[in-house]
Amino acid sequence: MQYYSLGKNSPNVDFRTAAITGQAPDKGLYFPSTIPKFTAAQIERFKTLDKASLAFEVMKPYVGGTIDDASLKEICAQTINFDFPLVPITENILSLELFHGPTLAFKDVGARFMSRCLGYFSKEKKANDRNSNLTKSTEDNTTTKPTTVLVATSGDTGGAVANGFLGVEGVNVIILYPKGKVSPIQELQLTTCGQNITALEVEGSFDDCQAIVKEAFMDAALNEQYNLTSANSINVARWLPQQLYYFFAWQNWVAKYQDAQGNYPSMNIVVPSGNFGNICAGMMAKASGLPLSHFIAACNANDVVTRYLSTEKYEIHKAVATVSNAMDVGNPSNFVRIMEIMHQDFPTLVKALSSYSYDDINTQATITRVYNDYGYTLDPHGAVAFLAAEEFIHDHEYQITHFNHTTEASPVRTIILETAHPVKFPQIVEASIGHALNIPDQVKPLFSKEKKSVQLPASFEAV
Ligand SMILES: *Cc1c(COP(=O)(O)O)cnc(C)c1O
Repeated sequence: MQYYSLGKNSPNVDFRTAAITGQAPDKGLYFPSTIPKFTAAQIERFKTLDKASLAFEVMKPYVGGTIDDASLKEICAQTINFDFPLVPITENILSLELFHGPTLAFKDVGARFMSRCLGYFSKEKKANDRNSNLTKSTEDNTTTKPTTVLVATSGDTGGAVANGFLGVEGVNVIILYPKGKVSPIQELQLTTCGQNITALEVEGSFDDCQAIVKEAFMDAALNEQYNLTSANSINVARWLPQQLYYFFAWQNWVAKYQDAQGNYPSMNIVVPSGNFGNICAGMMAKASGLPLSHFIAACNANDVVTRYLSTEKYEIHKAVATVSNAMDVGNPSNFVRIMEIMHQDFPTLVKALSSYSYDDINTQATITRVYNDYGYTLDPHGAVAFLAAEEFIHDHEYQITHFNHTTEASPVRTIILETAHPVKFPQIVEASIGHALNIPDQVKPLFSKEKKSVQLPASFEAV
């Protein structure tokens, strides 16, 4: 498997190089040269495969031989070793809870997979260097330089990356986060690791952090000196394993709804979207043969894609701050990949993808309403998704009853991805449901740890 740059101006590379460098030299995003196609027989077998084996089979073609099978199996098993339950909220809206990992957000899977791949490649390089030093003259004893993962976070990425990479040999991690703009648990998750993880507390916004990281990646000397790579979803090793959620969700869906003839209702999926990496991974899973129906991107006031789908005008803007802050993105980096999956064709895109956007008032009211009516606690991102699910169902039921009076309308069902645990956003969630949230066991130890960060002004030079 080779990866080409969507910038179309860089040589093709294998998975290893794509994962180590993050972005192509022309600053384009890497994309697989062929999307693996699973046969109907394979898909049938996937229905009952255990999660670790399924993860291995899905990831193997993408890794393309750069990691041996035994190691990849181990990496996959470790990556997904927690629950991904599908929990009904209403009769027709089910929540796929992706927050049972160590940092309580869906980014754990991508970060855990990527960190283990980089750890593998770093060990492999060390071994190769040792071997070549044995055969070469002694003056050529170049030491292996560590890779430096440089990442800006609005909250969840930092924690997941810190946790995923903690103690991984040959990899140092530098996380930039905006001072005072992440929640208390998020801040503890990224500042209490120590070891190979350094947190930089930047006196500015997430956009400022992101701009500094971008400037660092543009700096050839700095890249050379530190072996910089990114751990955002632009990195294929973080982006591609996110496909696994959709395979797991589909397994659950089939188990729940399949009838004696093997039929089950079509599975529509609502994804709270910011950089559109997660939803794009779902669309890859579908392109590789997983029987998924429609994708719905749920967005906050940052509605570039929502507007694009109705106007065909793609107008990026400066991100505005909302209560669902992981989706505060004005120029979603993975949208170019979605267009590539859709063969750059707008009519194909609108058949596969819908998008709805909601403001903070609606989001907060939805947390309250869903808690009161169904006893389910949504986080702000899940609340945006829930609204989109309701609107999608409403739009489609209307079509069925309006255009087709004769056939019995089967219910339109959707899954929403619950991308973070509500406790990561205690201020808004507790205000919405009227009482305090229980702290899950994974994060309790954080509160006795010491925060360590380096405070810096928002400038590239300072960083
Ligand atoms: C990162 C994140 C998102 C957005 O995911 P993208 O892949 O950037 O679209 C949504 N919800 C939460 C809680 C997140 O942390």
